[in-house]
This record gives sequence, C-alpha cells and structure tokens, in this order.
Amino acid sequence: MKSIIIANWKMQLDLKGAKELAMAFKGISEKDKEVVICPSFASLGEVGNILKKGSVKLGAQNCFWEVKGAYTGEVSSWELKDAGCEYVIIGHSERRQYLKETDEMVHEKVRAALSAGLTPIICVGETFEQRQQGARDYILIHQTTKALEGIKVDKNQKVIVAYEPVWVIGSGQAVAPEDAASASQVIGQTLIDLYSGDLANNNFSVIYGGSVDSRNIKSFVQTGVIQGFLVGGASLKKDEFIDLIKNI
Ligand code: PEP
Repeated sequence: MKSIIIANWKMQLDLKGAKELAMAFKGISEKDKEVVICPSFASLGEVGNILKKGSVKLGAQNCFWEVKGAYTGEVSSWELKDAGCEYVIIGHSERRQYLKETDEMVHEKVRAALSAGLTPIICVGETFEQRQQGARDYILIHQTTKALEGIKVDKNQKVIVAYEPVWVIGSGQAVAPEDAASASQVIGQTLIDLYSGDLANNNFSVIYGGSVDSRNIKSFVQTGVIQGFLVGGASLKKDEFIDLIKNI
C-alpha cells in the first residue's frame, strides 16, 4: 500500500500564498507515495486548477453531511467532489474544540463523504488530560467506533484514520514513535473489530499527525506500522515539506 502524506493548510494562507505553495508542490511525484493538499475552502478552486495535471491530489478540511439545502455557510461533500476533491478531513480536533463538532456529526460527515465518492480522513486522538488519566486507548476506540459503526464500506472505497494526539498538534514536539505505533495498533484492531480483517487491512489506512517534520519523520516510518502522515506546520514551508516527503 502507498504511504499517504496529507498537507493540512488550515486557515494559514491567503490566496496568493496558497497558489505559490501549490505551484511549488504540484510537481511532486514520488513512487509509492500519495500526496494530498488540503487548502481552505476559499482557495480550493485555484489550488485545484494548479494541481490538475500532476499527481498531487486535492482534499478539503471539512464537509457538511447533507447533499444540498438551506444550510448557510456549509459545503457538501458532493460540492467538494465537483470541485475536484478526492479527500476530506473530518473531525479534526480544532473543529471538535472550537466548533463543538461531536462524534455524531463526525459520523454523519463520514457517511456523506463516502456517498459522494470522497475518501474521509477521520481524526481521532486524546487530549492531554485524557492521556494523564490513562484514557488514550478508550478515546481512540470510542471515537473510531462512533465515526464508523454501521457505515458500510465497499471494496472500492478507502478510509483513512489519523491518530492525532490533541496536545502535540502545532506544539513542535511529536509523541514518541513507539507511542504513535501502539496507538495505530489500537485503531487498527478497532477497525478489524468493526469490519472484516480483509477490508480493514486493504481499505483502511492508519496514519499519524502531530508535529511531524523532515527530521523526525524517519523514526515514525521505522516503526513499520504507521501508513502515512497528516502534516500541519511543516506543510506550509516549501523545502521542509519536500524534504519530509523524501525522507519517508
Ligand atoms: C494537524 O493540524 O493536523 C497537524 C498535525 O498539525 P502539526 O503538524 O502542525 O502538528
């Protein structure tokens, strides 16, 4: 399976900055690696046009669960598909924290993304307090189960689950690679419990996100169980992101 590297640009760039970075990344083409760029909604169209002919894929940072209707300010998965997206991030901790996104909302968004033909990137992870209480595995099992329970995944569909310990995102200090590896295994086992072993192994990827950069990436790859990365800060710097991909 290809390793997947997803750039989450959050709300960090204006249109000019997003286009410049997209121009710098559009030529990335690495064997056995899938690179996805998730700009903000406002620059999705322009970035999509820049990436169109290359092998770097387009993703969004959020979606709504309805197909269409009177939902001011929301964007449906079907609109994202129309705009050229293949991926969508769902349930990022910043949305769970600031927008009060619940496990139920995440579930509906995952269902909508799959129906629209997008690959959902479901973010799960514990806060610092939950970790201190020894609740990491409980949170991972709970959030993964709530996001997916009862949702049928077909043989031609892909789902990505990203382990993102909330307390290290944007901190510059990643968790220990063994820690990310054991969390990935907990998520992997949860997927096997939810789906058949074959489907869980072939159609799902478990990736890590949280202060990954070009220097620490190798140590995560060396664990042998992490299938890709969700990258925030390091994806906003041209050379840093290109080095990070090369170092995988
Ligand atoms: C993220 O926002 O998903 C993320 C992983 O950010 P960073 O790499 O900056 O920690």
